[in-house]
Amino acid sequence: MEIFVEERALPFALSQEILKKVKSYHIIPSYEDYSWKEDSYPERISSGKKKLFLMHYPGRFFRKCPGTKNYFCCGYRIFHFAEGCPLDCTYCILQCYFNRPGIKLWANLIENGFSELREALRLFKKVGKVLRIGTGEFADSMALENLCGVSEKLIHLWKEEDPFAVLELKTKVYIPESYFKKLPADPRIIFAWSLNTPKIAASEEKGAPPLEKRLESATFAVKQGFSVAFHFDPIIYYEEAEKEYPPVLEKVLATIPLERIAWISFGTLRYPKELKYIAQERFPDTQIYSFEFIEGLDKKRRYFKELRKKIYKSLKDLILAYQDKVAFYFCMESRELWEEIMEKKIESSKDVAKILDNVAERLFRESK
Ligand code: SF4
Repeated sequence: MEIFVEERALPFALSQEILKKVKSYHIIPSYEDYSWKEDSYPERISSGKKKLFLMHYPGRFFRKCPGTKNYFCCGYRIFHFAEGCPLDCTYCILQCYFNRPGIKLWANLIENGFSELREALRLFKKVGKVLRIGTGEFADSMALENLCGVSEKLIHLWKEEDPFAVLELKTKVYIPESYFKKLPADPRIIFAWSLNTPKIAASEEKGAPPLEKRLESATFAVKQGFSVAFHFDPIIYYEEAEKEYPPVLEKVLATIPLERIAWISFGTLRYPKELKYIAQERFPDTQIYSFEFIEGLDKKRRYFKELRKKIYKSLKDLILAYQDKVAFYFCMESRELWEEIMEKKIESSKDVAKILDNVAERLFRESK
């Protein structure tokens, strides 16, 4: 990984910590002034996977998840620590989110971001509102952990602040047992893996370990007193999809103690239309965009409702059999689909948030 530091990012603690660990780096006036050798944007994304920019971030670190219009969303909050990811999934929405290639880590995170986060945690605790916060919205929460240790710092912050909040660290990477062993156990910390069938993991998730390795990491996390979660997202349709997704869910439910699973989510492939052109240019062999899609109410492309239903129905028996023990939810789905699969009434996004808030409150109690 080549490292670039903006001049104004140099004095911050995170920059100093990282620069001490690496053999070489380049100081640049600013990210905007960096001149890319590659001409096309897709080529820059590929080369940007091996470039880390330590930058000063002037925006808000703690914010609401953008969710999506006209579909149920869960009232999640984001702690924004970085943008970009060294892994390379063909469906990754980050390829077209920012039009700013490269992996960007906010150098002023400890000085500015952590104080903003502490303030929010104290405020929400005072008013008695449980928070569900994640760092994996615009980056993989753990892929840069060896270098930056941001998740480890947040876990210690949780111990110090004792917030009425859970922290979800979403990832696809393998985390060795030694990592968890050095951390203070806390059920409010949820290590979450996004999972797919072996076929999709092998063909569409470049750089990510196979399912077994992700589950092995999850068992280490549980053993050390953390919670875990799993996201079947994006579920991708292919001819054997209905046969191949249920065994993956079965494997999770058979491997991980159910009481340690915070939640399991499902979401079928959805994407802004520009993504298809960028991804097909970068991954000429991928077949995932060759289906018929409709434009949803949120302007994202998604499978027809009947196809989405068909996929979710293949998981329905398992969901119904375990829904008293594990919180399942659908990410950005319609009421009709929720009700048909879960066989219960869901009126609004508030009902979805309630399901997950109940889990967060339970994990808070367990941390006492
Ligand atoms: S692991 Fe997540 S963030 Fe990284 S490339 Fe894949 S989808 Fe994108």
